[in-house]
Amino acid sequence: MGTLIQNGTVVNAGGQQKADVLLEGEHIAQVAANIPPVDHTIIDATDLLVMPGGIDVHTHLDMPFGGTVSADDYRTGTIAAAVGGTTTVIDFALQSRGHTMREAQQTWLAKADGKACIDYSLHMAITDLGPEGGAQGLHEMEEMVLDGISSFKLFMAYPNVLMIDDGLMYKVMQKAASLNALCCIHAENGSAIDIVVAQMLAEGKTAPHFHALSRSIKAEAEATHRAIALADMVNASVYIVHLSNAEALRELRSAQKRGIRALAETCPQYLVLSIEDQMPGQSWEEAKYVFTPPLREKKNQEALWQALEDGSLAIVSTDHCPFRFKDQKSLGRNDFTKIPNGGPGIENRLQILWHHGVNTGRLSREQFVELCCAAPARVFGMPQKGSIAIGKDADVLLWDPIAQYTISAATQLMATDYSMFEGWNVRGNARHVLSRGALVVKNGLWIGQIGQGKFVKRVANAGGLA
Ligand SMILES: [Zn+2]
Repeated sequence: MGTLIQNGTVVNAGGQQKADVLLEGEHIAQVAANIPPVDHTIIDATDLLVMPGGIDVHTHLDMPFGGTVSADDYRTGTIAAAVGGTTTVIDFALQSRGHTMREAQQTWLAKADGKACIDYSLHMAITDLGPEGGAQGLHEMEEMVLDGISSFKLFMAYPNVLMIDDGLMYKVMQKAASLNALCCIHAENGSAIDIVVAQMLAEGKTAPHFHALSRSIKAEAEATHRAIALADMVNASVYIVHLSNAEALRELRSAQKRGIRALAETCPQYLVLSIEDQMPGQSWEEAKYVFTPPLREKKNQEALWQALEDGSLAIVSTDHCPFRFKDQKSLGRNDFTKIPNGGPGIENRLQILWHHGVNTGRLSREQFVELCCAAPARVFGMPQKGSIAIGKDADVLLWDPIAQYTISAATQLMATDYSMFEGWNVRGNARHVLSRGALVVKNGLWIGQIGQGKFVKRVANAGGLA
């Protein structure tokens, strides 16, 4: 038996070729021209591109935030991901202060259990190393790595909730370096931003627009610089999440030029949305775009695209953190600080990047695969994923490069009542998707089994840079 994908064009980060792809069980068994069909289930890929399934390394499913919980759980979130062409997500387990990493790990694995419809892994967000110099927390980091959680998230924003100070960050980075683990950083100067926020509220500036104005690009650039400097002091590999602007990018590039092991991602929203277009300060509707870092001035988009083209930015993820407009975003109707931070994007990442990146000629097909599949697998220690090659997991995306699609909340599978890209027409969309050999999306429709996703134990490889 097995599944034979015929007549397609296989696109990997390293090149493309006309070839058939044979899947046996959960793996890719053969990639070659004209594989003779025996007892195989045939999938016709004429005019389709056969790519590795997308990997979204930054999602927040079923995550508590500001008195509510993100709208997608592991079931709806991973189905939406799959329909959008993504076959693996890495979600964030959040350690609560005064509690252990083990508790957070168990909490998040329980959220996924029986619900995850595609493969998933976890980063551990560290907020506390425990008493007495943090010996217990540092030991737990070793345990997390043994359990396949080979990246740690550190927040430089959200004082008193998630933010850690430089000393704690230094300590975690030092330990991460010894474990070959990767440090993922939310880089914004949270202390300074909180002062700005308090001053704005005191002046009656409570609309969503002010969320964006309160978090300057300088606050992100400063924290980006500081995180990289601390990582460099202890020889750790560092990965800046959701890098949103040209000044933070300058810090990243400057470090990379000096040979420092610094990587970063950006997200579709920063590439195609802006303060000018989405948050001009005119209506409550702008709460739909309250996320952190916020939207930036339009001129930053060009810099981010260039960084994707030249490889300074390694990955495009979503930071998918959905909240409904009607009854969740509304918690901050009179105070932007109470608007749950985040936007829905897990379903649209590949559509947006293809339409605005590949169709415009900015990115090649290979670069698209690199940014969305191959680099995520390499940087985050999943050597079995991210390419169409013999022995790899049979996570396969059959992409129709000329399919027309209109993005809309009315048809999306994400559990939000709005889309950040409402009414946008894109060309290029997922047609069929296989997850470890099982056809889970057929002609754009989810047909998979609820709960078939497996936890992916990741290797600690210092972001693929060591
Ligand atoms: Zn995030």
